[in-house]
Amino acid sequence: MSAQIISGKDIAAEIRAELKESVAALAAEHGLVPGLATVLVGADPASQMYVGMKNKAAGEMGIHSRQITLDPDTSEAELLGVVAGLNADEAIHGILVQLPLPGHIDEGKVIEAIDPAKDVDGFHPVSVGRLATDSGAFFPPCTPAGVVEMLVRSGHDPAGKHVVVVGRSNIVGRPLASLLIRKGRGGDATVTVCHSRTPDLAAVTRTADILVVAMGRPEMITAEMVSAGTVVIDVGTNRVDDPASERGYRVCGDVLFDEVKEVAAAISPVPGGVGPMTITMLLANTVTSARRAAGLDD
Ligand code: NDP
Repeated sequence: MSAQIISGKDIAAEIRAELKESVAALAAEHGLVPGLATVLVGADPASQMYVGMKNKAAGEMGIHSRQITLDPDTSEAELLGVVAGLNADEAIHGILVQLPLPGHIDEGKVIEAIDPAKDVDGFHPVSVGRLATDSGAFFPPCTPAGVVEMLVRSGHDPAGKHVVVVGRSNIVGRPLASLLIRKGRGGDATVTVCHSRTPDLAAVTRTADILVVAMGRPEMITAEMVSAGTVVIDVGTNRVDDPASERGYRVCGDVLFDEVKEVAAAISPVPGGVGPMTITMLLANTVTSARRAAGLDD
């Protein structure tokens, strides 16, 4: 039997409709407009596209967005100055510095310069530490937060389930594991994290009630690695050559979708899965930040 399809596109649309309402209510009741600043250094086409998508989505929600584009040869000191200005700017509640930065700039230093109260990407060491210790106010990193929302909203609450996460990166696997073991909504799971040094990956993935894959290895998870009835979320976003396609390539996940959908209980597609959730969670964090600044949220 074919699996339930967990559409990140549909869930993202549902969350964006809710956000639009709360942004309108903030304006009507408190005269407050959430503000998101995106900082792009250089002219990398992929980064330009991502920043453009983030600003467009913010605008559609009624969130004020400000894009700052700097020359590729901008010095680290100049960039730190821009971040300091945004930290002090009361109209800005979220600051996103698009990564990667040019090689002459220390990314860690720039991320650490962002006020943790405006760190809507959730990459500041203070945010990472608060998530890891489940204490204090922080913003969950957008992709892992999107995965958790997809599970909860599609009726597959991770509470009490064994979740196997494949991948231990700082932007996906590791923070996702931290979110899943927190107490409360979207948490309370039993989590196993796998990586490239995990012997016999299939033996572990077959024990999952929920399998989340963030490897960056096209279609590597096959049907024999998944037990019947598993819920599968595919974070992978890979371009593979496809001479049959007009563009010469196609986008696929880390899961062999056509095969795995025949054994899984539910599965997210690529594209249309986790991708649309990431920007949505950035907008959600920006709205939360504005509410916190106004004393409306903890
Ligand atoms: P990284 O390359 O940083 O991490 C990949 C992880 O997968 C590593 O922990 C690595 O292990 C592990 N891994 C690689 N090969 C294997 C293997 N053969 N067996 C077991 N584990 C393996 O990638 P990211 O976390 O940044 O991204 C993962 C994927 O998710 C990519 O396709 C990326 O494009 C996509 N992505 C999608 C987003 C979205 O919005 N949809 C956002 C972010 C990422 P080790 O640590 O040992 O090297």
